[in-house]
Amino acid sequence: VHEDVLILTDERMARHDPGPGHPERPERLRAILRALAPDAPRLCAPREVRPEELRRVHTARHLEAVERLRGAGGALDPDTIASPDTVACAELAAGAAIEAAEAIMRGDARRAFAVVRPPGHHAEPDRAMGFCFYSNVALAAAHARAALGVERVMIADFDVHHGNGTQAAFEDRADVLFMSSHRYPFYPGTGAIDEIGTGPGRGFTVNVPLPAGAGDATVAPIYAALIPALAARFRPDLLLVSAGFDAHERDPLGGLRMTDDGFAILCAILRDAADAHAQGRIALVLEGGYDLRALAAGVRRCVEILAGADAPPVPSPDVRAARVLAAVHSVHARGLLSP
Ligand SMILES: [Zn+2]
Repeated sequence: VHEDVLILTDERMARHDPGPGHPERPERLRAILRALAPDAPRLCAPREVRPEELRRVHTARHLEAVERLRGAGGALDPDTIASPDTVACAELAAGAAIEAAEAIMRGDARRAFAVVRPPGHHAEPDRAMGFCFYSNVALAAAHARAALGVERVMIADFDVHHGNGTQAAFEDRADVLFMSSHRYPFYPGTGAIDEIGTGPGRGFTVNVPLPAGAGDATVAPIYAALIPALAARFRPDLLLVSAGFDAHERDPLGGLRMTDDGFAILCAILRDAADAHAQGRIALVLEGGYDLRALAAGVRRCVEILAGADAPPVPSPDVRAARVLAAVHSVHARGLLSP
């Protein structure tokens, strides 16, 4: 089995350097590229995001604040630190996410993975945050809606942190479904189960809080239950995935206990849901993951799954999975998860 997978990445994104001791370091990208090299999937260097594409999600004030860092560097919050090349890297990261969506929608590739840094899912329309400058996945979703003929986008976010930026971009809209699983309570503080969207977007934000220590037997059965159900009801034209690997048991920040197999299972569930309900269209975009070995292995396994490999079976749900699922079903019982 080897189905067509496009990898959008560029070693130039290793030039973003938030400084000594920062977990979101250049070595992350290099470790992934080393791990992917033996298989030589179809690699493609992305273009930079265009100003009009950025304006679909971000405010003028935020874009000016980022622009002031170009060639100079500086900090936008205590964790979100730019080096002189960071703005150029952020433009490539957002451009890669957008091009992943384009490649899928135009049929240039069957599936895609944008392997990028800096990550994006904490960047809100009006501010940088949590290592993130531009909201990469939100920009790809907005581009798909505005320019690619896509009516509905489903976004799944399995990074260990809540995707507050992506949520903020779409929480009042019914055309973009956002589902995030994350440790809770935890950084960045948002992502409570009762954050379900606002106005016309009510019911189209699905937050899945996970207790500290949750592993494959919690997370994988939750995905197996929720993702096909949400996709079947929402009928997306495109599935985008914020793929962070910081829920891995080796990760120094996450405090969860997932394994390499767990990420392969999540990716296969998402791939199969896209096949069944989104005409096969799925693109992953890298978010966090701060243990180099776990990160490189996670990306490699997901690329293999996108290429058609089989994943291990979904483990039997543990007590935590049952509890979380019951709570999510209860909160969304009159919406996308109604019987
Ligand atoms: Zn994260």
